[in-house]
Amino acid sequence: MHYLLRHRDIPELDQLSVYRDHGGYEGLRRAVAHDSQWVRDEVSRAGLRGRGGAGFPTGRKWSFLDQSAPARYMVVNADEAEPGTFKDRELIEHNPHQVLEGTLIAAYALNAAEAFIFVRGELLSGYESLLRACDEAVQAGYLGPHIFGSSFSVTLRVFRSAGAYICGEETALLESLEGKRGQPRIKPPFPAQVGLYGAPTVVNNAETVANLPQIMVHGADWYRQYGTKDSPGLKIFSVSGRVARPGNYELPLATSLETLLYDLAGGPLPGHTFKAVIPGGSSVPLLVPDSFSVPLDYESLAQAGSMLGSGGVMVLDDTVCIVRAAARLLKFYRTESCGKCTPCREGTYWMAGILERIESGSGTYADLDRLPDIADNVSGNCLCPLGDASLPFMLSAMKHFRAEFIQHIEEHRCPMAAGLASSA
Ligand code: SF4
Repeated sequence: MHYLLRHRDIPELDQLSVYRDHGGYEGLRRAVAHDSQWVRDEVSRAGLRGRGGAGFPTGRKWSFLDQSAPARYMVVNADEAEPGTFKDRELIEHNPHQVLEGTLIAAYALNAAEAFIFVRGELLSGYESLLRACDEAVQAGYLGPHIFGSSFSVTLRVFRSAGAYICGEETALLESLEGKRGQPRIKPPFPAQVGLYGAPTVVNNAETVANLPQIMVHGADWYRQYGTKDSPGLKIFSVSGRVARPGNYELPLATSLETLLYDLAGGPLPGHTFKAVIPGGSSVPLLVPDSFSVPLDYESLAQAGSMLGSGGVMVLDDTVCIVRAAARLLKFYRTESCGKCTPCREGTYWMAGILERIESGSGTYADLDRLPDIADNVSGNCLCPLGDASLPFMLSAMKHFRAEFIQHIEEHRCPMAAGLASSA
């Protein structure tokens, strides 16, 4: 089943003529034939939730926007940089009109006369694909003044970021759009009140808006036939790591992790077994094989002790050193911390250093107490989610694989590296 990834079934869907031949821009046409309140209501009824990581209901997010302000902005977040997540990249590269159409529907719903798509700097091909799509849409009259002869007029700018993970955080993204250093703002006020250039702003993920054309065409009830009552619809899962067929898979929410890993992604590599999976990008706790029957929806994953997050499913098998994996991820957060607040800046620095020390064989038992102690000082004390996001994988790795940490300390070396070397 492909709705978001339709380009896999339809060659050259990135071209307007092909996109239009397959129902393209009918969602926008249907939206502007109604008033903006109808569009907002339909999206709320569909139960669409943000696909960037937080899973916040899109209709509810839209409802916070101050409609009495003189200007409002619609911003699409395609600054996809969560490790293990590459769904927005495929969408903007190969199905750019669907992202663009969704952006225009959202702008209409919010009565925003200006919209932006903020693209991760490294995703050059997606950026260029979106630019081409915008040019085609302008020429066809889908973007610009009086769309479909209505009173709705909108301008849109595709912005290429300078390439920093933190700009995926919505307020840092807005700072960057304004030409400032990409650092998070203190909240409140939230962007729905004070956003881009001080005006009420909604920031939605690229996959989130790509759902809107289908919801407009088929309706909220159609969308709700997939998934569960609280997690309706379809979702793209990016599968990476030690698995036979990595890639993006579009599934109804609540499909089991087991189905994704074995039936679709082909199971473990020959001769190996799964050790753990990080189901929602690098910022969520890992799951061990005992939990692989869990349905992939927001509620079930929370009950299983993890999160759906961005849908980046990273697979670790029996060759992976869990301490090295934790050290590698903490190093990422240390590098990407913007440095604005102390718990995150210092905490990620110290945790990364301690994990590297344990992995190299120089760790001590005291380090096993220091790590959760530092994590405790980081948790809940940071200006934006990045600081907290650095913790779940490390803490869950220490919980499920404590013996492996101890083995590093007692043997003064990485046992996995030794095993791999001897079997080579
Ligand atoms: Fe910057 Fe980290 Fe503080 Fe976020 S939590 S503002 S990334 S230092």
